[in-house]
This record gives sequence, C-alpha cells and structure tokens, in this order.
Amino acid sequence: MKHVSVVGAGTMGRGIAFACALGGLTVSLQDISESSLEAAKSYIDKQFEKSIEKGKITEEKASECKGNIQYSIKLEEAIKNADLVIEAVLEIMELKIEMFRKIDKHAPKHAILATNTSTMSPTEIAAQTSRPEQCIALHFFNPVPKMKLIEMIKGLETSNETVAMSKAFGESIGKDTVEINEYPGFAVSRMNCLIGNEAMNMLMEGVGTAEDIDKAMKLGLNHPMGPLELADLVGLDTRLRNMEYLYETLGEKYRPCPILVKYVKAGRLGRKAGKGFYDYSK
Ligand code: NAD
Repeated sequence: MKHVSVVGAGTMGRGIAFACALGGLTVSLQDISESSLEAAKSYIDKQFEKSIEKGKITEEKASECKGNIQYSIKLEEAIKNADLVIEAVLEIMELKIEMFRKIDKHAPKHAILATNTSTMSPTEIAAQTSRPEQCIALHFFNPVPKMKLIEMIKGLETSNETVAMSKAFGESIGKDTVEINEYPGFAVSRMNCLIGNEAMNMLMEGVGTAEDIDKAMKLGLNHPMGPLELADLVGLDTRLRNMEYLYETLGEKYRPCPILVKYVKAGRLGRKAGKGFYDYSK
C-alpha cells in the first residue's frame, strides 16, 4: 500500500493523515470545509515539529513526509490514486452511506475502503458499494499520533485478504491491531461510552465534581485519563452521536445522559469548542 486517501479532515482525519505520512506513505486529505483543511494543515505541521523535537525524525525526513501530503476540497481528485481510502466524516449513517457510494464510484477498483466509525455497522456501509469484500472498519483512537491501536471490524462480506492487508497497513505505520466481529460499538466504544456516560450520570447526581470523578478513575483504576476529560477530548457532539446509536441498537443502558444532551445543545462541545466538562479558554 502506497497511497492513502483520508476523507474528512477533523479531529480524526488529520491525525490519521499525519500517522500515514509519518509512516512513509503518500497521503491525500480531503474535506468539504476549507477552514477544516487549514486547521488540519497547521495541526499536522505542529505534529512534525514535535516529532523533530523528540528526535523521532530528522528535519529533512519531516519535510519530505510533509511534502507527501496533498490537501484537497475535491473528493474525486483526492481518491483517484488511492490504494486505501479511510473515511472520517461525522458519525451519521446517512452521510457515511452517501460518502461510500461516491468513494466506490471514483476510487480505483483495487482500493480498500475503510470507515473510521466508532460504533456503526461496516456491513451496512459496505452494502452501498460494488465491493463489500474490500470494505472494513478501521477504528483509530484519539489522539492518533499517540494511540497504538487500530480496531479492525470485519463486515459480513469483508474478505480475509482485506483484513490481512489492513493489518499489514496498520503495522507499516507503527500501529497494533485487534480483529473484532461486528456488533454495535465493537469492543472499545461499547465499553468506553458506558464508562463515560456513567461518569456523566454521577456528575449529574452530585456524586463528585468532574475533577474528583476523573481523579478517582485515574488513581483508583489506573486509567490514563478520566472519563470526563476523555469525553471532552473526543468531542461531546461526537460522543452524543455514539451514545444515540448505541441506545438505538443496544438499548436502555446506553441512554445518553441528559447533561451530555444539554451541553451539546449549548455548544459546549469539549476541547475543540474551548468548553465542555472543563474550561479550556485560558
Ligand atoms: P469532526 O467533527 O472533528 O470532523 C469531521 C470532519 O468531516 C469535519 O472536518 C467536516 O468538515 C468533515 N465533513 C463533513 N461532511 C463531509 C463531506 N461530505 N465530505 C468531506 N468531509 C466532510 O469528527 P471526528 O471526531 O474526527 O470524527 C470522525 C469520525 O471518526 C466519526 O465517525 C467518529 O465517530 C470517529 N471517531 C472519532 C473519535 C474521536 O475521539 N473524536 C475517535 C475514534 C473515531
């Protein structure tokens, strides 16, 4: 695999594009929003600077890798040479379906089509294409440069060859993989969304402050981040969509906490908006 096209340049898309470029692949990063592409470019440039400072890469190599990334507003242009397309648009099934129909039409026939969905059915998405055996969910984690795992979720028709090639791709960019059978929320989101939602319910019930609930999980259970700070990092709008899908598919225990709904309505979307469970404005 030589060329990866990433569709959607938000929190995840820009991280995935950086990881692929750092891994020596050529990359096209596409988004319909100019401002999202600009923000993605400055994020990626900053990640390369950090990698140089940490001694992970030389200045020459970083500038070569940066030169291997193309930013594009046009989907057709961005995916025409892809060996692998990774879709990272919003967690809305209708949108993913629309994107996969277009991607299937314009990507080379040999290309693998992956979705970075956190919860949704890769089978349903793949069914919109002429190549369901070449479709898979490749679930990266936030922040992509730091997180080792790619959760690979096989849809009903996903071939073993697609899984093997996806695993080899993951390894080539320094990630580790797990193979999970399709079920809503897969392994990580199903567990993580439940923990995060319970932390929100506890906050609402006055069990503790956000700081103390997070501290309890970090020091008591050795979680690297508290569930509320993690939800802020993910984005509360994204987390709410995840919860709504899990509630719809897995039932009552995934009912989104009312605080989460309220915060999203208020525009408190977490870190990216400057405020969520914590205030990042300073
Ligand atoms: P985000 O809101 O940060 O970014 C989404 C991007 O998609 C935006 O830049 C938007 O302009 C772009 N977009 C919307 N419609 C588009 C279209 N038609 N064509 C091209 N681009 C379009 O969202 P995110 O947090 O990066 O999430 C993306 C996906 O990754 C979702 O499926 C989400 O569930 C999943 N995911 C998110 C996280 C996380 O922590 N945020 C972790 C793992 C997986």
